[in-house]
Amino acid sequence: MCGIFGIYARNGYNAAPEILGALNALQHRGQDSAGIVTFDQTFQLIKGKGLVNDLIKGQKFTESVGAVGLGHVRYSTMGTPSEINAQPFIVNYPMGIAMVHNGNVTNFNELRKSVREINHRLVMSANDVELILYALAAELETKNLFALTADDVFDAVATTQNRIEGAYSALAIIADVGFLAFNDPHGIRPVVMGRKLTDAGPVYAFASETTCFDYLSFEFMRDLAPGEVIFIDKHHQVHSRILTAKPQHFCIFEYIYFAREDSIIHSRSVAHERSRMGQLLAQEVRRRNLSPDVVIDVPSSAFFFAEALANAINVPYARGLAKNNFFGRSFIQPTIEMRQNTVRQKLNPIRRIISGKKVAVVDDSIVRGTTSKHIVHLLREAGAREVYFISASPPIKYPCVYGIDMSDKTQLIASAYSEAEIANLIGADEVIYQKIEDLISLYPKEFACYACFNGDYPTKISIEGLQAVAKERLDSNIQFISQSI
Ligand code: 5GP
Ligand code: MG
Repeated sequence: MCGIFGIYARNGYNAAPEILGALNALQHRGQDSAGIVTFDQTFQLIKGKGLVNDLIKGQKFTESVGAVGLGHVRYSTMGTPSEINAQPFIVNYPMGIAMVHNGNVTNFNELRKSVREINHRLVMSANDVELILYALAAELETKNLFALTADDVFDAVATTQNRIEGAYSALAIIADVGFLAFNDPHGIRPVVMGRKLTDAGPVYAFASETTCFDYLSFEFMRDLAPGEVIFIDKHHQVHSRILTAKPQHFCIFEYIYFAREDSIIHSRSVAHERSRMGQLLAQEVRRRNLSPDVVIDVPSSAFFFAEALANAINVPYARGLAKNNFFGRSFIQPTIEMRQNTVRQKLNPIRRIISGKKVAVVDDSIVRGTTSKHIVHLLREAGAREVYFISASPPIKYPCVYGIDMSDKTQLIASAYSEAEIANLIGADEVIYQKIEDLISLYPKEFACYACFNGDYPTKISIEGLQAVAKERLDSNIQFISQSI
């Protein structure tokens, strides 16, 4: 999972500071590596491991000129977090193209093979954006490059989309030709388009979430539709086409966990979606006759669920856990021990809120059970009389192959245990999960992907494909561990 940003302005505009600002606002989407490319006569690429601020330190961004550019923050679900796997990626043949992408290509083994054997390109990294880029470059190569038309570009993207399986949202600069944004046919990952009016004409931007538009004063225009391709030509004319659309399957985990609460995606406020999900949790709390004294959240992603639940059952909401914000997301750590250690340092209970109380604690999800087990333990140490652990997402039973980091089924606690067993394992008096029917009832029939809850994958994915995705993830963890020792 990653965050992407792109900007297309007229000569004289300085894109780099805005790209860096946007990446800072999208940092929650990935903290392994960051990168930026600008274009002015040639590409200027700066990328590396770490946070956006690590990238900024020591780099001479004042020399990074160009009115056009791309940025990326990466959370690696494929390939190690290393400089070679950091995005953006660039090719120089048959023309200069720079690209960033968010998502996960599921047929990467086949694609790697066909890119090598049919397109004669060597894949240098473990990042699937390289495959998308080479596939697109090979299609463009078949066109008349001296007079490339919008139709040629749409045709090249459509053929590329037909070769790729999985989730991808890509942004690309085609040197001296224009700017591209395109989505997989199911629109699994979000992309929003925005505009800023300047005296020289409109400046266009594309991003994973709207949060960065607010900060940069871009006006939100719209979301990309499933399979949509937007091409802005060198005269700044915007062309759009949908050649490969299928029913929409937007990743529901974007609303539950991944996106920031101030973003608006598919015309819905992420904060409001979390409140709606929180209200639904109240039904199950009532059905089980639980009467907590206080509802608390696991900061920061669970606030809106907890607040809405508390209101719905008429119990006070309180902040019961303090969070040290100077730690990265604990989930990213590759071993259980490392994760436990980070969780321990990251969260601390506020004793006055917890002591002597029946505490309902709400988190966005339970994946492996590491975080929840530790939190229950902390709350008991702080004197909680009873602990009800409430997950805003339904039980996660199936691996995500589209970029959320849950690719190995053996690690998913709900794939092996019942609710009562999970309560026992994590030490809670009760565990309550969102009911999948309730979650689904919030959205139109064709809107979201719920595959991690019900195994209903919107794209073709075989058992071998699932195993390959899990293996990629495990391999990159193993390499990551050996790197960090
Ligand atoms: P667990 O400790 O059960 O393995 O994971 C649950 C915790 O991980 C929750 O607090 C949730 O906020 C977080 N989480 C769930 N999915 C993801 C993900 O894909 N990436 C990251 N970084 N964290 C996640
Ligand atoms: Mg969390």
